[in-house]
Amino acid sequence: MIKILENNGYLYIGILIIASIAIVHIKMLMIKKSNEFDKKINATINIFSSTTDINDIFNRLLENLYEILDYDIAISVLKNGNNFELTACHGCEEETNISSYLKDNKCIELLKKITKSGTTYYIKDLKKADYTNYSTGIELLLLYHMRSLFIIPIIYKENIYGAVIMLNHKKSAYNEGERANVFSFVRQVAIAIENATLFQKLKDVDKMKTDFLSTVSHELRTPLTSIIGFAEMVKRKFEGVIVEQLDLENDKNKIAVIKIKRDINIILSEGDRLSCLINDLLDISRMEAGKISLNMREIDIEEIINQVITLTNPIIRDKSVQVILNIRESLPKIMADKDKLLQVIINLISNAIKFTQQGCIVCTARAVEENVIVSISDTGIGIREEDKKNIFEKFSQVGDTLTNKPKGTGLGLAICKYIIEEHGGEIWVESEIEKGSDFSFSIPISRKK
Ligand code: ADP
Repeated sequence: MIKILENNGYLYIGILIIASIAIVHIKMLMIKKSNEFDKKINATINIFSSTTDINDIFNRLLENLYEILDYDIAISVLKNGNNFELTACHGCEEETNISSYLKDNKCIELLKKITKSGTTYYIKDLKKADYTNYSTGIELLLLYHMRSLFIIPIIYKENIYGAVIMLNHKKSAYNEGERANVFSFVRQVAIAIENATLFQKLKDVDKMKTDFLSTVSHELRTPLTSIIGFAEMVKRKFEGVIVEQLDLENDKNKIAVIKIKRDINIILSEGDRLSCLINDLLDISRMEAGKISLNMREIDIEEIINQVITLTNPIIRDKSVQVILNIRESLPKIMADKDKLLQVIINLISNAIKFTQQGCIVCTARAVEENVIVSISDTGIGIREEDKKNIFEKFSQVGDTLTNKPKGTGLGLAICKYIIEEHGGEIWVESEIEKGSDFSFSIPISRKK
């Protein structure tokens, strides 16, 4: 008897050792599996950061989910107000019928409950589910021989974005660990959905602003054209008819004429300034709406720079500034929109004149590899290092806007950047404070558009 007990004792100890080894082995396997899962998730999550298209994200979510845990049918839904819209459906041959499950009121109620609670929902055997408590839609799922149902809410922080519904022909298809893995994967994808939603909102606001700018500037242009037109007429009549008939020996008359002439000139010059601002606003809103197309032709860049120098002559008359053209080589013709390029060079040369009190402005152009590079350098006030990155943005003006506000809109360089980039080129600035600035842009030589 003692012998048997002794023998059995060894047997029990043996079984115990084997069981412990098996448990340790299983635990190791689980840790390894969970590490593999984390690695898989990290690799997959990076794919999501490359897109801001919400439908694309939902499709990728279902595709990648299949890699982690297989399903027979998976559906993703986006919460829209009080309803849930189908965004992607994988493995659904009878897509329309399955999606009719989503229209079922009880299913909507169930989805609302799950997304609100933020926890997953699992029915391991639809056949044994108590239908009095569930949606009639579940019977529909049974019709397609589905046995397990797993619903995962898509939420990030307080924001509810929707849910993923996984269906399987097998009963008890997903164990606790697998469900936890899927839950944490969907949670990570929710971040990408949040980013895409924010990006879409920003795009909508930006479009609203562009439309608003475009309408307002268009509406402002019409009355302003009349104001400038009538002011010019008053000026002509005043100088040509009224002044002729006045006794200018009389001091009062003389002073009144001087004042009226000065005031009309102010109306005209401010009107012109406003007109430039409105044109810039219209330009930028059209560009942002993609409504500007380039009229590409073969052009001679030297001819354009010369034309601009002649055009800007009147504004340097009362300044001790000189504009010099310095082109040493014969340049190849480039494919570009002449008027748009003229607009860029006018903007750069007028800025150089505006921000230079004395010295010279040098315009150069040279061919470098496949591009022609045009540079406009000045000996003006220069631009601080920290301001350089902002000046090509819309409405960015450097300096204290209340006290030393430069006259302008802060749109000129943004328009230049848009035009140059549309030509396939680049624009940049090099500058040293109080020494001067050098604005350059490149245009590809043989680009046809
Ligand atoms: P603005 O109509 O105000 O001139 P821009 O977009 O043309 O708008 O220029 C933006 C800002 O960049 C200007 O307000 C000015 O501060 C700076 N800037 C542009 N060109 C020069 C330059 N040649 N020298 C110094 N600062 C410049």
